[in-house]
Amino acid sequence: MDLVGAPEDVLARRVRGRMIGLVPQSPATHLTPVRTARAQLAETLRELGNPAGPDDLAALARRVGLRPADLDLYPHQLSGGMAQRVANALALAGDPWLIIADEPTTGLDRPLVETTMSELRRLTGEGRAVLLITHDLRAAEQVADRVAVMYAGRIVSLTSADEFFTRPRHPYAAGLLDALPSRRFTAIPGHPPELTLLPDGCAFRPRCDRATAACERIPELNEVACHHPLEHHAVR
Ligand code: SF4
Repeated sequence: MDLVGAPEDVLARRVRGRMIGLVPQSPATHLTPVRTARAQLAETLRELGNPAGPDDLAALARRVGLRPADLDLYPHQLSGGMAQRVANALALAGDPWLIIADEPTTGLDRPLVETTMSELRRLTGEGRAVLLITHDLRAAEQVADRVAVMYAGRIVSLTSADEFFTRPRHPYAAGLLDALPSRRFTAIPGHPPELTLLPDGCAFRPRCDRATAACERIPELNEVACHHPLEHHAVR
């Protein structure tokens, strides 16, 4: 299905919540502050055409690691981890096959990042795909099977997580890993371009020490989009 061109009623009836569930950034602030988690979950299930009784809500709570009584709390009474689980329950309410988790670890301390990542990993164990959007490479390393790296609005590397974290071949992917404090702690020189002022050819060219005249053409993505990919870039 072409989601970009799909009519609004198709998106509303077939896609949102049913095929694709969303775990938003900052779940606690995404929840309606004056309604309990139970009321919000019941409403979501009703809207998806699955009106739920107390037993259904209790089962959904247990599935995401909450006690049924936790559903009677208001958002301000939830810990960060509990709010994350409520967000997971809302995303799972329509039993979608894809969960999009948008920067779910922003602003969380490290223990809560670990918890959030193991929750997401558990969802994949139920035969569901999770698309995690993140700047947190340590978090991605915990859960990812495949990693897509974007630069200036384009995917420039699409490889297995193992290859990305141990043998990155795109210069930008290698630079991201080298910038981690736990690795070389060396920044990539320069700044990302304005998306309205992209250079001709490869957008990473002004920052890339491997650039040649060939890079004035946009490289095609074939696992990596690069005219001169790295062969063996040791990053550990
Ligand atoms: S295509 Fe050229 S400029 Fe772009 S990342 Fe590869 S080597 Fe660098």
